[in-house]
Amino acid sequence: MDIRTSVLVVGGSLNGLTTALLLARRGVSCLVVERHHGTAIQYKFRGISPRSMEIYRAAGLEAEIRACDRIDERAAAVARMANLAATEVSWQGVPWADTSHLGPAAAATCDQDRLEPILRAHAERHGADVRFGTELVAFRQTGDEVIAQVRDRPTAAITTVHARYLIGADGTASGVREALGIGRHGPGVLQHWLNVIFAADLPTAVDGRPLRSVFVTDINGTLVPRDDGRWLMAVQFAPERGERAEDFTADRCRDLIRRGTGRSDLAIDVIDVRPWDAAAAVADRFQDGRVFLVGDSAHVMPPTGGFGGNTGIQDAANLAWKLDAVITGAAGPGLLATYDAERRPVADRTVAQAVTDPLAGDARFDGELGTRARKCDRAVRGRVSRDGKPGGFGAGTSARRTRYRLTHVGFEAREEHVERAPPLALLRQSRFAVGHRRRGAVREQCDDAQNGDRDQHFDQREGTNVLHGRALPM
Ligand SMILES: Cc1cc2nc3c(=O)[nH]c(=O)nc-3n(C[C@H](O)[C@H](O)[C@H](O)COP(=O)(O)OP(=O)(O)OC[C@H]3O[C@@H](n4cnc5c(N)ncnc54)[C@H](O)[C@@H]3O)c2cc1C
Repeated sequence: MDIRTSVLVVGGSLNGLTTALLLARRGVSCLVVERHHGTAIQYKFRGISPRSMEIYRAAGLEAEIRACDRIDERAAAVARMANLAATEVSWQGVPWADTSHLGPAAAATCDQDRLEPILRAHAERHGADVRFGTELVAFRQTGDEVIAQVRDRPTAAITTVHARYLIGADGTASGVREALGIGRHGPGVLQHWLNVIFAADLPTAVDGRPLRSVFVTDINGTLVPRDDGRWLMAVQFAPERGERAEDFTADRCRDLIRRGTGRSDLAIDVIDVRPWDAAAAVADRFQDGRVFLVGDSAHVMPPTGGFGGNTGIQDAANLAWKLDAVITGAAGPGLLATYDAERRPVADRTVAQAVTDPLAGDARFDGELGTRARKCDRAVRGRVSRDGKPGGFGAGTSARRTRYRLTHVGFEAREEHVERAPPLALLRQSRFAVGHRRRGAVREQCDDAQNGDRDQHFDQREGTNVLHGRALPM
C-alpha cells in the first residue's frame, strides 16, 4: 500500500534524525528511511556546539544529552604526550570555550552512537515514522509532490511514497544529490584517516586531570577515552606511500595501541576499524524544486573545528520551521528558497574556516594541502571587502597563529607569532563564530571548482566502507 506523508527524509543518521525530530515536534508528518538496521555503532560526531545545544534544548533533549557525558566538562582537557605512560604531559587547553555570556546552552560532548538513539526516541515520540533497514531506490518530482520508491532491505519489498517534500540527509556520497545532478565545489579530499574503537583497561586521567583526548606523538595519532572502557584511536594513513586501510588488521591496530599507550602487554579488544576521508566540498545548490539537501549531503568539511555535524543540525533547524509554515499555509512556497540563500553561504564560510585559520589568515595544513586550503579561502574572502577593496585578514600588525595537524578530536595545535592581524571591522562581522574559539568573517561562495571526487562513505554501522557514487535509478 502506498504511503502518504508531508516530508520524506532520506538518511536516519545525525542530520536526518535531527530534521525528523524538528519536523515532528511541529506536527509535520514525516517518514525517515535509513538503509542500515540501526543507529550508529561508530562515532565520529561528538562535539555539540552551543548553537546546536540551543536547538536540542528547545526540543527538550538537553538533560538527556548532558547525561551521556560523565567526564567532567569543566576539568577535562586535551593533552599531548609521547605515549600514555610517559611522565611528561603538555596540556593543550579545554575542548570548548566558555560561552555562558553568549547564550543559555553550553557546548556538550556526546558521541554519535549515544546521541542518535536519543534523537530517534524523541522523533518517534512526536510521531515521526522512522524505518531502518529501508532505502530510497528512486524518486521523481511532479508539480505538487515527490513520488519515491523505498525498499525494505530484509524482504526487498518496494513501497511507493507520496510526499510533498523530500530531504536528502544521505551523507557526503548523497544519491539524492547525484540523482539531481547537483555538483560540488571546494578543495576535495584532504587526508585519509582510520578510526579504531577498542576496549582496554586504561586510566582516563593523567595527573588527576580527566582526559578529553590525547595527541600521542609515538604513533602520530589521537587517543580518546570515554567512561565505559572504550577508547577511540585515530591515525592517518597515506595511500601515496602505498598505505592502505585494509592493511590495518586487528593485530596491527593492537600493536599501534600498545605503542600509543606505552604498555606492551595491554589486553585489547578491537571493536571496530573504519577508514574515513577528511574532505571539503559544498553542493552548488541546496534545493531542487521540492527536494532539499541537509547535512553532509550539502557540505562536507574536515573535522578541524568540529563544524560539520553542527552545520547540519543548523540546516535542519533552518528548514524545519519553513517547511512547517509552507505546509500549514502560513507562508507561501517562496519562503523555501531562503533555505539555500541562507545556508549555502554559511556552509561555504564554514568550510573555509575549517581549512584555514581566519585569525592568522593562513591554512590549517602544511604543504600542498595548505596551498589548496589557501586557494579555497582566497576564493571566499577575496570578495569580503566592506569598501570594495580586496578584503582579507592579512593587513595589520601582529597575531598569534595556530598551525594544526588535523585530528578529529581536539587536533594538535602549535602556536606561532605572525606579524599581521585581521582588521577589526572584519572580526566584528563574525557572527557565525559564536561558540567556536576562532572567528571568521569569510563571506560569499568558494567557487574553487575542485570537486571531492573520491566519495568514500564512512559507513558507521555495519560491514566495510562502501563506495557509493552511483545515480539512483528511476
Ligand atoms: C572523525 C570525524 C569526527 C567528527 N567530529 C565532529 C564533531 O565533533 N562535531 C561536528 O560538528 N562534526 C563532526 N564531524 C562531522 C560529522 O560527523 C558529520 O558532519 C555528520 O555525521 C554527518 O551526518 P549526516 O547525517 O549528514 O550524514 P551521515 O552520517 O553520512 O548519514 C547519512 C545516512 O544516510 C543513509 N543513506 C544514504 N543513502 C541512503 C538511501 N538511499 N536510503 C536510505 N538511507 C541512506 C546512510 O546509511 C547514512 O546513515 C566529524 C566527522 C568525522 C569524520
